[in-house]
Parts: sequence; C-alpha cells; structure tokens
Amino acid sequence: MTHSEAASRIAKLRQAIDKYRYQYHVLNAADISEAALDALKHELYQLEQEYPDLITPESPTQRVAGVALAKFNKVTHVAPMLSMEDVFSATEMGEWLARVEKLAENAQDYVVMPKIDGLAVSLVYEDGKLVSAATRGDGRIGEDVTMNIRTIESIPLTLLEPIPGRVEVRGEIYMRQADFTAMNAARTAAGEEPFANPRNVSAGSIRQLDPAVAASRPLRFFAWRLESDLGQRTQVESLERARQLGFSTPPFVHAKNFTDIKQYFAELGAERASLDYWIDGVVVRVNNLAAFESLGVVGKTPRGLVAWKFAPEEATTKLESVDWFVGRTGVLTPVATVSATFIAGTTVTHATLHNADEIARLGLMLSDTVILTKAGDIIPKITKVLTELRNGSEKIIELPVNCPVCGSPVIRRSGEVALVCSNKQCFAVASEHILHAARAFGIDGLGGKIVERLEEAGLLNSAPDIFRLSVDEIKNLEGFGEVSAKKLIDEIARKKSIDLDAFISSLSIRHVGAETAFALATHFGTLASFIAADKNRLLTVPDVGETVADAIIEFLQSEHSQKLLAEYQEVGVTVKEAKKIEQKLAGKKFVVTGTLATLGREDAKDRIRLAGGSVAGSVSKNTDYVVVGDNPGSKADDAATLGIPTLSEEQFLRILGE
Ligand SMILES: [Zn+2]
Repeated sequence: MTHSEAASRIAKLRQAIDKYRYQYHVLNAADISEAALDALKHELYQLEQEYPDLITPESPTQRVAGVALAKFNKVTHVAPMLSMEDVFSATEMGEWLARVEKLAENAQDYVVMPKIDGLAVSLVYEDGKLVSAATRGDGRIGEDVTMNIRTIESIPLTLLEPIPGRVEVRGEIYMRQADFTAMNAARTAAGEEPFANPRNVSAGSIRQLDPAVAASRPLRFFAWRLESDLGQRTQVESLERARQLGFSTPPFVHAKNFTDIKQYFAELGAERASLDYWIDGVVVRVNNLAAFESLGVVGKTPRGLVAWKFAPEEATTKLESVDWFVGRTGVLTPVATVSATFIAGTTVTHATLHNADEIARLGLMLSDTVILTKAGDIIPKITKVLTELRNGSEKIIELPVNCPVCGSPVIRRSGEVALVCSNKQCFAVASEHILHAARAFGIDGLGGKIVERLEEAGLLNSAPDIFRLSVDEIKNLEGFGEVSAKKLIDEIARKKSIDLDAFISSLSIRHVGAETAFALATHFGTLASFIAADKNRLLTVPDVGETVADAIIEFLQSEHSQKLLAEYQEVGVTVKEAKKIEQKLAGKKFVVTGTLATLGREDAKDRIRLAGGSVAGSVSKNTDYVVVGDNPGSKADDAATLGIPTLSEEQFLRILGE
C-alpha cells in the first residue's frame, strides 16, 4: 500500500467508525456489532502504526468512549470512571499477569468475574439515601440518570446500613436473558418491533428522559466495586461489603494464579450460552486494594484490571473471490473466499453465500470489505457489505453460464432462486472422480461419505481441493472432531508426493485403468513427457490402442485437464518419476491370489521380486496391485473393498513385458 492509498483508506475507516460508534454508543441502535466495529478500529490502528504521520487528534483511536448526551444533566465523577484494557489470548493474559506481579509485589491473588455486557453506572448515597446515579460518559463527566435508576428494583434506595456521609458504588445495569425473551415475545404479540439484544435495551432504557420507560423494563443491577473507603482492604471484602449494604454482586472466583484464571475462563466460556445474562469475557482484578492503587493508571485504564475477552464471533475482512460448488441435487452454491481472519477462535478463509439472490441482496462485489458472522454455524456467513469503504476497484460478481465442475450449461428453473447444472449426473460424477483420486493418492480415511459431505459443505469441487482442506474448516462438520480432523489433514499432507502411475490413474481418463496407467508411466517416465505425448507416441506404448490413445489425447487437450493439472501444481503435489524399465516393479507391493493358468503362484512371486517389486500375504491399503487367478479367495474381495487395482494373469504378464 502506498502512502496516499493508506491516507485514503484511513479517511474512509475513520468516517465509517465514527458513524457506527455514534449509532452504538450514543443512539444504542447500531447496524453492526461491537465486535465488527472493533475489527474496523483494529485495522485503522494498525494502519496508523505503519503510517504514524497520518495520526490526527480526531482519529477514533485517540479517544476513549462516548460523550454525554446533551439532553441530560451532566455529572462530574469524583474519581474518574476508567475503562479496562482488553486482552484476547492466553498469551496476552499471561503477559499482563507477569507485568503486574513484577510491578507490585503484594499483587498475589485476583478476583475473576464474568464481564457482563450491560451499561456501567455510578451510584452515590448520602447518609444512606440514593441521591445520584450517573453513566460513565467520557469517564470524567457522565449523564445524570437518577430518575431512571430509581425504577430498578435491584438497586436499594436506602442502604441496609445507615452509613453517614458519601458512599459510592459502581456496577452494571443489565437484563436477564429470560426477561429479555419474554419482553420481546410480548412486544411481537403487540405488533411492536422486537429489540436486538439485552445490552441495547439496558442502555436504551437508562438513557430515556421519561422514567416510565425504564420502569416498564425488567432491568437489574450488579455491583462490582465499592468506590468509597469503608475499611475494605481487598476486592473480595469490597464485594462482601456491597452485599451487606443491599446490593447484588456477580458470581466470582478468588484466583491464586494463572492456572485458576485459565480454568475459570474456560468454564465460563463453555457455560456462556446457558447463562442468564450476556457476557463477553472475564474481568480480572488485583485483589489487594493497596497493590491495585500502587499499580496506578496508564492513559485511561488502571494497570491492576484487565478484561480477557472471548473470541469475537464477527470480524471484517475482504472478499477475494466467489467460487461455485455443485450440490447433490445439481444446485450451484456460491462460496466466498476471503482474506484470512480470526473468528470465534479459528482462522477463516471461506464464507457461505447461500445462492445467487443472496449476492444481489447484499449488493456484494469482489474486493468489498465485508462483515463475517459466525453464530453457532460451521461456516461463517457474509452478513453485510461496508459499501462506504469502496474505492472504485470493486468488480461485479459474474454468475456462471457453464457449470464449473462439468462444463454443462447452467439453468435457472422458473420461480426458483437457485442456479442448477443441467447435467443430472454432475454431482455423482464429481464425487466419483474425487474419490478415485483419493484412492490413487492412497489417502486413508477419505471415503465416499466423507467426500460427499465435504462437497456439500462447499470445500471440495475437484480432487486438488483435497490438498486445500484445513483442520479449522472440517473439525465442526458432522462426523469430525478436532482430533479426527487433524488426523485426516496430517494424512493428506503425507500423501502429497505420488508415483507417476498412480497419478495418471488418479486423473479418471476414460479407458485408462491401473494397468494402462502403469504402462504409460514406465514408458514416459515423467509427467511432463506424458503431458506432451502425441497420438503416434502413445500408440507405441504396450496396452495402448486407437481408442485409448484418442481418449488420452482428448483428455490432455481439454480445458478441464489443464485446470486440474494447474491446480495440482498450485496445491504443491509432486509427481515422482517412474522407475527404469529393468526395475519396472520397483517399490510396488503385490498380493497374488487364486490359481494362475500358466504360472505357478510361487513363480509369479519370483518374477515380481526379480522386477524389483515385493509380495505380501494379505491385502492392505499399502498394496499396489492384486494379481487374481481362478477361484480367488477373500483377498480379491479385500482388494475390491479397499479400492486396490486388480490384474488378471494376462495383464500381469503384459506388464512384465512377456
Ligand atoms: Zn455440472
């Protein structure tokens, strides 16, 4: 990116961030989630780090939070309401702990609690009576929302202990999931718009001028800090004291070390969906208040406090290309390839687009900046296009006219949104070719059912796609887990190098079975020389007649084969040179079964060994060929089950050149 391109991108990002920030923090009605907004801010931050001369005081990276709404009275906080530093990984969390323990020797234990996604407020009591409640605002000056706060029944209007003077308590306004669901059901029944999420309702209700609105909503309050000094020495005591005064406090654990913190983070993450309130991580605070104070404040965040966030389920990224996959019923599904991004703990490079109408509905173009959402889905969706970030280089997404798999015309049945391949055999043939290639490469664990599942998930279009699969993409598919996914991907990686005969066999060329593939490989020696073959040369190969030669030429000249070979090269498959004629069976593993007409079975085995091959007693996935005579035993069945090529005695002798 040049300096002027960076300047243009930065300007567009700032405009977009400011628009969404205003919607999210001031109007409480955002078109995009906080996670997506964070992703845009992160991109801006990184660009500014790269081009520091482009940083201006007005940049969203240079401010901390929202501004008080003009219509409310303003309240100056006695002590600023600071925000929290966020960390996003165990590594960053560990670094925070190491830093804290280095700076403050008395920081030896921590209070860890859920980070509730609500609205932070400060409550002030005079002589035990609630006199003022304020939002965080910009941290220094907040909004006076006392009238609304008084409507929340979980907030005491009078403290349980008549403490003289000023007492300040800070905490979070939130809504229970069950209350939120019931309230939305009632709204829908009354013909009103349901709310987007509990956080928006909490914030929106508190920032209403009419307290009747807040009163009508089932809001609750958790106290997370006693701000005034009532003799407490630790955060644990602070929470106990708050409960004694009549407040509800969030659940927490008293952690002694990093292991405790990690364990709680993992447990809470697993329970997250079933909790009765929305959380987006855990808050870790130094328990010893003297240590907390001594650690001080950096910018707007105290050093003794950190939020360890769960992996966000949304991110922004760039659309790189759209590919079309054929499903079992012949329907073509568009799948987006996007610049790699990290969502919900995994790296994502693909997103589903459902159908051609979805592309039109989103108004999606190539090179667009998009929002990816992953909410319990296996493959994330593109949910929004940030059109304001376009720079004119975006291109229209062309709908396919011919099937990308078989080349047949694409049709659109009347009244249906889906594009369909007109070749009814398309999916079955594609599956068959992929499965055949998987066997030729000797990939263990990639059977017919799995191939179909991967095709339907839009991960396999052609055999070379096998080598593009990743653990992250398949681990959530039916029948897979983290361990089995890794096992398959490792197996595929091990099979990236292939013998020439097996490779020719993998191409599914008409009339070219295992035996012919072997003859071609020993004749041509290298893939390059095979690809360059003309018909006359092919006719000199034993076992190749007019029909076979024509089929090979037709294949080699087709667009399909050129694409296939280019893709194999692109994914890094290497094709080994074939062994010299004299040792034509070198490295090949044979099994011989049944009665051979002219050769004795031992004789056949000797000839195999003489030509450099080896002979095994039973058929396994490592067997290359099974020579089958009359009245074969179960070994012939084993060969069929495992997809191992079989040779008749006649074919076997021809391979040996006899
Ligand atoms: Zn097709």
